[in-house]
Amino acid sequence: MSEIIERVKCLIIGSGPAGYTAAIYAARANMFPVLYQGTQPGGQLTTTNEVENFPGYPDGITGPEMMIELQKQAERFGTDVRDGWVTKVDFSGETHKVWVNETKEIHCDTVIISTGASAKYLGLESEQKYLKLGGGVSACAVCDGFFYRNQEVVIVGAGDSACEEAHYLSKLCKKVTMLVRRDEFRASQIMQTRVKNTANIEILYNTETDEVLGDGQVVTGVRAKNKATGELIEIPATGFFVAIGHKPNTDIFKDYLKLDKTGYIINVPGTAKTNVEGVFVSGDAADHVYRQAVTAAGTGCMAALDAERYLAAKDSTFEVNSSTYN
Ligand code: NDP
Repeated sequence: MSEIIERVKCLIIGSGPAGYTAAIYAARANMFPVLYQGTQPGGQLTTTNEVENFPGYPDGITGPEMMIELQKQAERFGTDVRDGWVTKVDFSGETHKVWVNETKEIHCDTVIISTGASAKYLGLESEQKYLKLGGGVSACAVCDGFFYRNQEVVIVGAGDSACEEAHYLSKLCKKVTMLVRRDEFRASQIMQTRVKNTANIEILYNTETDEVLGDGQVVTGVRAKNKATGELIEIPATGFFVAIGHKPNTDIFKDYLKLDKTGYIINVPGTAKTNVEGVFVSGDAADHVYRQAVTAAGTGCMAALDAERYLAAKDSTFEVNSSTYN
């Protein structure tokens, strides 16, 4: 059963750089945005340590600090930022319906989806077992690295995330072993060079995780397999970090929105529009290419402007606020 139905002009789902930027623009355009933060308030950046590449921060800023500032900026213009998780939507009619925490029903003139993406895991039974036990498997070095100070850890992955996390861990841990499944990295040159030049990071190429080893409660090591020779080795470790990419958080939209084969929402090229009028997308939920905080923020701005123009076209009493274009 739903609680009392609420009507909102602009509902923003998600609280990463895309959601908050959409909120700043929508609030300044008198769209009275309501933003639901989701299960990870602040989004993926809250699990990032130093953000050095967001323009305007010459000395860098930590991810969590940046998200607090973005939230404050959105609230300054009147965004209603709420705790809550959108669990269901119905985009079949003219009014877009959204349910929060399974109960509260909201009717929206416009919806901006900024739900981002979540970390992927290998799917090994042993990995999932120790993940659920909280016994040494993690997809976030910045969140959990602290627990492995002066210990030995293994990290799997070869992209920028894996390099960033391996480098972060190398400053805390005695030794970091990186498992790279091919004979080369996917990461950018600068990130690769950083890990290759770090004395306590050992890189094992052509190597896959065969099993996460443990004593039933906590991780004690990793059995890895060399793909070329078939050789199995056991690496002692108390922590196993997974950094192999992300999955877009779009499952609840799949009955209404066009998604690509990985689940990313397909937007109308050059816009934040989806295949449903009045529903817009921003950030990593639609971006498998760039996936940066700054690009997410840019598409958040686009989504708010597209939503504003949509409302103005539908309702002549709603004026496009020219200040948003300054
Ligand atoms: P990516 O998709 O770029 O890389 C995933 C990595 O994981 C690849 O090397 C892939 O191997 C490996 N992998 C995938 N599945 C498995 C598996 N089952 N077993 C072992 N290895 C596996 O994801 P990232 O999260 O690293 O990066 C996402 C985006 O974010 C990128 O565009 C990246 O540039 C960006 N980014 C930028 C940062 C920065 O600039 N500071 C920091 C972090 C991310 P393979 O190469 O063989 O496919």
